[in-house]
Amino acid sequence: MTQPLMPAAFLGHGSPMNALERNRYTEAWRAFGASVPKPRAILMVSAHWYVNALALTAMPAPRTIHDFYGFPQALFDVQYPAPGLPSLAEEVADLVKPDFVAGQDRDGWGLDHGAWSVLVHAFPQADIPVVQLSIDARRPFEWHLALGARLAALRASGVLVIGSGNVVHNLRAIDWQQPDGAFDWTRRFDADARELMAERPHELPSLVAHRDYRLAVPTPDHFLPLLYLAGLAAAEKTGASVLVDGDAYGSLSMTSYTLDAHCPQAGDATDGAAPLETVLPPESANI
Ligand code: ZN
Repeated sequence: MTQPLMPAAFLGHGSPMNALERNRYTEAWRAFGASVPKPRAILMVSAHWYVNALALTAMPAPRTIHDFYGFPQALFDVQYPAPGLPSLAEEVADLVKPDFVAGQDRDGWGLDHGAWSVLVHAFPQADIPVVQLSIDARRPFEWHLALGARLAALRASGVLVIGSGNVVHNLRAIDWQQPDGAFDWTRRFDADARELMAERPHELPSLVAHRDYRLAVPTPDHFLPLLYLAGLAAAEKTGASVLVDGDAYGSLSMTSYTLDAHCPQAGDATDGAAPLETVLPPESANI
């Protein structure tokens, strides 16, 4: 008997304020966390660890990094004291060699807000070890897709792989007047990404040729974590499901995806959930 595959996810994290709020996105993340078998560990691929290297956090107690500015003190006070798991960092480093090669980071990084702003909801106990995998900025989309597929072996041993970013993420185009709205190009790009994720996830890199790509993905950091879920889906020859969708400030898509999760309550989160709060981040905020 083989162990059932651990689900996997891509969570659209949006503003760091989501860490403190309760809204239909955070409720969906909570429903996802509650729906999965208890993972042995979580491997996070966060948009906010986008560097010229492939690295893994390998410290026993990663620090909570507050990698933003201009937000309320309460957000700087958030701690997510989940342990690390150096042995998993070694395991992942072995798994991705020789084609990918990952270095181990013992004192440089920790858990950035792309990781903890969703984990405080999905796993509020902070009792599951978390390892972060960096996003190597030097590599093309196909490379990230292939690396995601390589990580599929982890799912058979109880590791939950989560990508955290946003499918559409254009901070220069943000429209503070429409906290729940979207530009046409946001909707078009998100819809076409959704079709590929459901039916042909291995073709997700083709979105680089999409007519709205330059507006939707002006820098690749927040889009890239989705390629890891696409790779995991492609490895199993299946598609990903939408966990929750929506838009923020015109130019952010909040769509989240899951793979092999059974999370029925997430789809109902629009009814009766708390509305999005009206605390706006400053215009210079690096969300
Ligand atoms: Zn972000």
